[in-house]
Amino acid sequence: MTYQSGWITDDVQLFRKTVRQFIHREFAPHQARWREQHGPDAQAWLKAGGVGLLLPDVPEEYGGGGGTFAHEAVVLEELARAGVHFGSGIQSSVGRYLIAYGGEEQKRKWLPRMGSGELVAAIAMTEASAGSDLQALKTMARRESGHYVINGSKTFITNGAQAGLVCLAVKTEANVARMRGISLIVVETEELRGYRVGRPLEKVGMHGLDTCELFFDEVRVPLANLLGTAEGNGFSQMMEQLPYERLQISVGAAASAELAVALTTRYVRERMAFGKPLMDLQNTRFKLAECKTQAQIGRVFLDSCIERFIVGSLDDASTAMAKYWLTESQCQIIDECVQLHGGYGYMLEYPIARMWADSRVQRICAGTNEIMKELIAWSL
Ligand SMILES: Cc1cc2nc3c(=O)[nH]c(=O)nc-3n(C[C@H](O)[C@H](O)[C@H](O)COP(=O)(O)OP(=O)(O)OC[C@H]3O[C@@H](n4cnc5c(N)ncnc54)[C@H](O)[C@@H]3O)c2cc1C
Repeated sequence: MTYQSGWITDDVQLFRKTVRQFIHREFAPHQARWREQHGPDAQAWLKAGGVGLLLPDVPEEYGGGGGTFAHEAVVLEELARAGVHFGSGIQSSVGRYLIAYGGEEQKRKWLPRMGSGELVAAIAMTEASAGSDLQALKTMARRESGHYVINGSKTFITNGAQAGLVCLAVKTEANVARMRGISLIVVETEELRGYRVGRPLEKVGMHGLDTCELFFDEVRVPLANLLGTAEGNGFSQMMEQLPYERLQISVGAAASAELAVALTTRYVRERMAFGKPLMDLQNTRFKLAECKTQAQIGRVFLDSCIERFIVGSLDDASTAMAKYWLTESQCQIIDECVQLHGGYGYMLEYPIARMWADSRVQRICAGTNEIMKELIAWSL
């Protein structure tokens, strides 16, 4: 019997079928164009919202799918398996911030429009001089007649160019201990004076994802857009929610590693060298056996993390282990698979070459793997 993930119930399996068909029909054929234009078509968000691909784990009363992280994982897996870059994971991540800290009015105002794809969301924490050291961020928000007035800039922001809603990390108080001065403010960007989006950043991979800088010059946002009941909670809110993003990345990493093994197995059965398929060479079989084993070990650990997350018992150290180990493993497996493709593995027309370029950032995003090791070490 083949291994089955325990979190895939009949309902989740049915959802996977819909998601897979949709991605295959509506997203996969447009990938070359999305890569060229540095992001998906604006219409793609509405189409995704129409089939329930956005906010699958947000309650239905707020315009979400009413599912669990299993539904979110299915979307991420199917995107990875189709080689499609689409920032729905960031949309879900912002959805979680709103569910966790948003007031009733904020939830009703933004979540249904995010679920339908009318509103694209981004989360903007990173700055030129504040990445791993988030507490060093400099973007300031000062209070002035019923508004926050925001000045500063953010970089590497996924969904940045298309975002109508930015969950923004700012300093609301400069004269307190660094982490206590940070707050999260929700910025509605449409026709917002002083708000500017930079040009798309030229990345090594993930070309179909919209990633850019955001600039704030005396941008006025109502005080009511603060997330949470008081200023100064932004850092702890991010620390509470980043594990969700790390689990999302782990899901994509595992799916991508599995895909690499499948694609390469197919390739080496067909590619001939010295009068026989590459698969007949012992080195090929051994390398693929190693990759398959590594992918399977990762899958089993990830599945246990997903199951624990769904019931609310996943600890931060285990999430960090998943993010660190699965993304390192993804890069190792894909690199071996490139080697088994020979020169074709270096040609961007072959999926494995794009996967190699795309995978590298996984070890950096949502907290670098070095930071993950710090988190694991703190738990010892
Ligand atoms: C494609 C892409 C998309 C992204 N999307 C978003 C987004 O949507 N929103 C957002 O806010 N950010 C986003 N980021 C930013 C990402 O989260 C940061 O790049 C990441 O947190 C690392 O920060 P940094 O780039 O400033 O590196 P640095 O913090 O400068 O790190 C450089 C090196 O030093 C190491 N290092 C730093 N501190 C320590 C330490 N204490 N111990 C050991 N080693 C350490 C790091 O591990 C790394 O190897 C994105 C980045 C990329 C590349």
